[in-house]
Amino acid sequence: MTDPSPENPSAFFNAMAQAFDATIRERRARPEFIGALCLQAFDSFEGNLAIQTEGAPAVACAGDCPACCVLRVVATAPEVFLVARFVTANQRALAQRGVDLPARIAALDAFASGCSESERMALRQPCPYIESGLCLLYRLRPLACRGHASYDKDACLAATSGRDADTAISTPHLMVRSLVQNAMMSSLRSAGLAWRLYELNGAVAIALGDAEAERRWIEGDDPLLCAAIPDFDAAEIGATFDSLRA
Ligand code: SF4
Repeated sequence: MTDPSPENPSAFFNAMAQAFDATIRERRARPEFIGALCLQAFDSFEGNLAIQTEGAPAVACAGDCPACCVLRVVATAPEVFLVARFVTANQRALAQRGVDLPARIAALDAFASGCSESERMALRQPCPYIESGLCLLYRLRPLACRGHASYDKDACLAATSGRDADTAISTPHLMVRSLVQNAMMSSLRSAGLAWRLYELNGAVAIALGDAEAERRWIEGDDPLLCAAIPDFDAAEIGATFDSLRA
């Protein structure tokens, strides 16, 4: 299926939501469900971003700058479980390189749990997945990370070190991220799955500590609720989804 252009946000949202609905309906009971849902979201983001940025100036972000990786990252439940799977699958190999990911995640959770976006930025604590300036998760990084891109690396470095700077954030990245993320959340909600946004690190810490969390989420519980971001108005967002899908 070719996604419609985000220049028509309502049509794009509905087409995306129908595609996510189909994936949930067909794969919810299968082991590949989490990966399939995330891959669909990431592919849709990247494909539509390429369309939206064709001929536009390139952003400064090339995967080798961790300047903004001190910001609070929000993620949907499938993205959280995908990251938790990555940590579980790779922790032994990373430990042999001196990278103790579960310890990093627990340390940041103890330090930054419950922080607002501005409080988190003020802490200037790097994301646990940064290693030698690179993101260990890069191909699996959440939509929130993909959708935050800047035209000015120096301005990003200035802003994240507390100085006043215009970070010249890319609007197409923000727009495509918002449309894809909201379409997936709408489909999760329609299927009776927990559809909130969670603080990534806190939610991964929960998932790593509860071997049943993923199964419970697929059955309709919200095992990640303690890491849900507080500035999320489920009633208002749900009403918006209903009107868009009417
Ligand atoms: S997941 Fe990767 S890209 Fe996102 S904040 Fe962490 S290190 Fe940066």
